[in-house]
Amino acid sequence: MNHQKSQALDAIDRNRELLCRVSDQLWEHPEVGFHEKYAAELYCDTLEALGFQVERNLAGIPTAFSGTYGNDGPVIGFLGEFDALPGLSQVEAALEKIPAQESAPGHGCGHNLLGVGSLAAAVAVKQYLQDNHLPGTVVFFGCPAEEGGSGKGFMARSGVFQQVDIAFSWHPGEVNSVSTEGTMSNYQICYHFRGVSAHAAMSPEQGRSALDALELMNIGVQFLREHVPTDTRIHYAITDTGGSAPGTVQPYAQAVYLLRAVHPQQLIDLYDRVNKIARGAAMMTDTTVEIEFIKACSNVVINTELNRLMQKNLEQVPPAGFDEADLEQARRYQQTFPKGKTYYDSLVDEVEDPQMREELQARADEPIHRVVMPLARERQGFVSSDVGDVSWNCPVAQINAATMPAGVPMHSWQMVAVGKTPMAKKGMLYAAKVMAASAIDALEDPEIIRRAKEELLRRTGGKTYQPPIPAEIQPKIPRDLFQTP
Ligand SMILES: [Zn+2]
Ligand SMILES: [Zn+2]
Repeated sequence: MNHQKSQALDAIDRNRELLCRVSDQLWEHPEVGFHEKYAAELYCDTLEALGFQVERNLAGIPTAFSGTYGNDGPVIGFLGEFDALPGLSQVEAALEKIPAQESAPGHGCGHNLLGVGSLAAAVAVKQYLQDNHLPGTVVFFGCPAEEGGSGKGFMARSGVFQQVDIAFSWHPGEVNSVSTEGTMSNYQICYHFRGVSAHAAMSPEQGRSALDALELMNIGVQFLREHVPTDTRIHYAITDTGGSAPGTVQPYAQAVYLLRAVHPQQLIDLYDRVNKIARGAAMMTDTTVEIEFIKACSNVVINTELNRLMQKNLEQVPPAGFDEADLEQARRYQQTFPKGKTYYDSLVDEVEDPQMREELQARADEPIHRVVMPLARERQGFVSSDVGDVSWNCPVAQINAATMPAGVPMHSWQMVAVGKTPMAKKGMLYAAKVMAASAIDALEDPEIIRRAKEELLRRTGGKTYQPPIPAEIQPKIPRDLFQTP
């Protein structure tokens, strides 16, 4: 690692206390998507104090913002998330599930670390530009509502990422690896059925059951499953049954559907067919249906050029430095959940070199996975992420960094409980350095950015980004939905 780069990375260590404090404060004030008022204010104040120019209310979203340093040269973006999950409140470092506040949210996806890791990377790149008097711009993007809100999708719809040359992000987790999994596009829709209430025994002929309509819609969709591409997904939840009295004809019922497909066009087709079924169900029952589009996100366009760059830096940057106390704490958490097949195990299965696979298998029981995983081959995953919408606008790469005990499930109370521990913050700062080092490499060698952009163009077939969220849809997560983790 050259002198300029290591000097820039030192800025992360110099600001360690501040960065860790911000992460802890976010952990202590968990807020759900689009309600991250405390987080947005804390970030904007911190960015200003660190010498970034802050733009609030980005894309008209009160909790979206950016912090910029520099005004020319290549634009490097870092994506920060900070929303928490409903119902996951948890006492810090406890070894059993104890809510800190009943039914309050908690940081079950580690986004208190995610945002600050990206901020730390931006701080190092700013230092690099300053020290070396080089052209270049670094932007930290404060992206709200990753969980169920597609905040970045709304930001992308407004053109927020259009001027970015390349962007980086990461996710806290149990391994150190480059993310090579494609994600799915998705749509989330709420179907509201409305009928007429009546006494179900005395005057059933006067009732029109919204619940019947909803059930018929679900049955229709079960038949549809045979006639859609095999790699699409149709999930649903009944979010309002209309009441609990069987003697009353239910005048209202509500279901939320989550549709996924790899290609955006498949999703448009699927959406159209599910809507036809919903309308058909309403017609059969003489009720009405209101189709409320909630949000959408695009599939992630993988960028091998940037993935290789991130892999190199995962291997070159000094490791997180977990000590015996971290390992001991991790072991205690491992007693709190049954050992099943983990994400680490699935990555090891993918390793082609038999010797390396064996070496990694031998380390499967380590309390924290300190090893850097080899660059995995590209494969199609089935989850979705709003990073997809950024990746259609500029080349993006993401890493995972070990911040928690091996095998801890995502979105669990254990993940919340360890979110303030030294192990979590060590992993966060390591991820920050890997992202910053990759950005600095790209600033030093413009060919990297050129090749990454060329790859994006090739993979999208030259198609420009089509926002999947219709222009009239406002960012929201309805309060009566998603109240359970
Ligand atoms: Zn999550
Ligand atoms: Zn997450």
